[in-house]
Amino acid sequence: MFLRTSGQLHVPRPGTSGAQPGVRMAGRSSTPRSRPFTAAIHELAARADPAALLDLEGVILFENDAWERFARVGGGFGEVGVGGRLLDALPGEGEREAVCRLIARVGRGPGPRAASITVERNTPDLARLVTLLVSPVLSGNEAIGLTIVQRIVRELPVREVYQVVEATLEDYRPEDGVLRQCGCCRRTRHPADPAEWDFVPALVAAPPADTAFETCPLCRELHCAVTAPDDR
Ligand SMILES: [Zn+2]
Repeated sequence: MFLRTSGQLHVPRPGTSGAQPGVRMAGRSSTPRSRPFTAAIHELAARADPAALLDLEGVILFENDAWERFARVGGGFGEVGVGGRLLDALPGEGEREAVCRLIARVGRGPGPRAASITVERNTPDLARLVTLLVSPVLSGNEAIGLTIVQRIVRELPVREVYQVVEATLEDYRPEDGVLRQCGCCRRTRHPADPAEWDFVPALVAAPPADTAFETCPLCRELHCAVTAPDDR
C-alpha cells in the first residue's frame, strides 16, 4: 500500500530516517542543498519512464506517476511507495545485494557517477527486461541523493522466452511445504530437482503467502552485476 500518492514528497521527521537534511528542504528554495532536489523532481516528474528520487540510504522521497502505474501492472517495486525503502520491495537476496551495491557505488563514489543493472519483471503473460539506471543528485562534487529510472528494454510474450509449464501449486510444493520462487524471473524451483527452475504462470499469478523468494542461479549470473558506462 502506498504511503503517499505520487507527486508528493516524503518529509521525514528529524532523526526518523536516513534522509539527508537537504531532503526536508526539498520544497523550498532557501538553501543551496535544496536546489538539486527540486531540479531532480521537476525532471523526474516530466519523464515518461517510471522514475523516483531516493536518499542515499535508498528511501523513496518522490515517485512519478509512471512509477506507480508500472507497480500496478506487476512491474517496478510493488507496494513500497514514498517513505519506504527501495530494498524492502525486492524479493530475493541476489537482486537486493545487487541494488545495494548499485546505490552504494553511485552514492558514495569515489567520483559519483551513474550505473545500472538489468533485471526481469515478468508477469504470467509477459517477459520483461528492465534496466534500473541510478544517477547521483549532485551538490558540487558530492552526491546528496539518487535518481532511479526504470526502462523497459524488452517486452515479449512469456512463451517466446521461457518454456512455460502449466502446473498447480500441489505439483510444485516441496516436502517442507514452502514454495521457492525467484523474485527476479519468477521461475519456481522444482521440488524433485532443485537445480531446475520452471516458469509456471499459475504460481506467478498467485504465489502462496509463505512463498520463499530467492534469486535463481541464472538471474545471479545474468542480472546481478552492476555496470557503469565506462566499465571495461
Ligand atoms: Zn531467476
